[in-house]
Amino acid sequence: MAWTSTGSSNAELIDNMLRNGILGDVVADVVDGSKSEAEAASGRIARAMKKVDRANYVRDKRDAYEDSPQSIGHGATISAPHMHAYAASHLLPYLPPRGRVLDVGSGSGYMSAVLYHLMDDPHGQEPPTPTLDGNSKPLITGIEHISQLTDWSISNLKRDGLGEALERGQIEMVTGDGRLGYPSNAPYHAIHVGAAAPELPQELVDQLAPGGRMFIPIGTYMQNIYHVDKDKSGKVTQTEVMGVRYVPLTDRNLQKEF
Ligand code: SAH
Repeated sequence: MAWTSTGSSNAELIDNMLRNGILGDVVADVVDGSKSEAEAASGRIARAMKKVDRANYVRDKRDAYEDSPQSIGHGATISAPHMHAYAASHLLPYLPPRGRVLDVGSGSGYMSAVLYHLMDDPHGQEPPTPTLDGNSKPLITGIEHISQLTDWSISNLKRDGLGEALERGQIEMVTGDGRLGYPSNAPYHAIHVGAAAPELPQELVDQLAPGGRMFIPIGTYMQNIYHVDKDKSGKVTQTEVMGVRYVPLTDRNLQKEF
């Protein structure tokens, strides 16, 4: 079903995912919500994803609206749109207005942009400009260990209309080892990990806010997405969600070109 979402434009790609039940449907399962909550969630994710033109985040624009992962160089890929949609659905209930999000292995910057627009549209209407909290921390922090990809992601975000959000400090894209998180902007209400970790990095668990969720692929050959949830008292639970295939979350020197 996922692969049938390919479209001839960004809007068509997102509409096909909506039709195929990829956007938001998991929200009802995840939070025991109703069908109408799931529909509202789908609409919110579709609105956010329509604001992010995938053509601004790929190397070859002919592939932009294909529902498949594509090489972005340096041994990295931009994930398939349906995987980004799943991740957005799984994290949506954990994105409070003016909360903080960490995108680990931010690559092209595509998911950082989607997460920003999800934060920017907290009630499903045209948003007021979000303000930073008293600590002046960004809403979205993207961390990527290949500096050329960080630089490229920043130019992608600017091309996609997010230059002001970068200038205002609402989005910050940094180069560093994402396995260590980014403590100076922590704690995070939601953490998206876009590369598969051999095991759960404790630093990321430590930087998750109480009540927060991490969406993380774990495994080497066999990989699964896990929800890592921290309740209000700080208790952490780990739930296996589905099998996947991601680029490894690894040492910079071990990342292989393909
Ligand atoms: N979500 C992004 C990228 C996915 S590919 C997108 O869709 O564009 C996974 C990314 O993780 C790659 O860009 C890779 O360089 C990065 N990565 C791998 N190990 C990392 C690490 N230890 N720290 C930070 N980034 C890492």
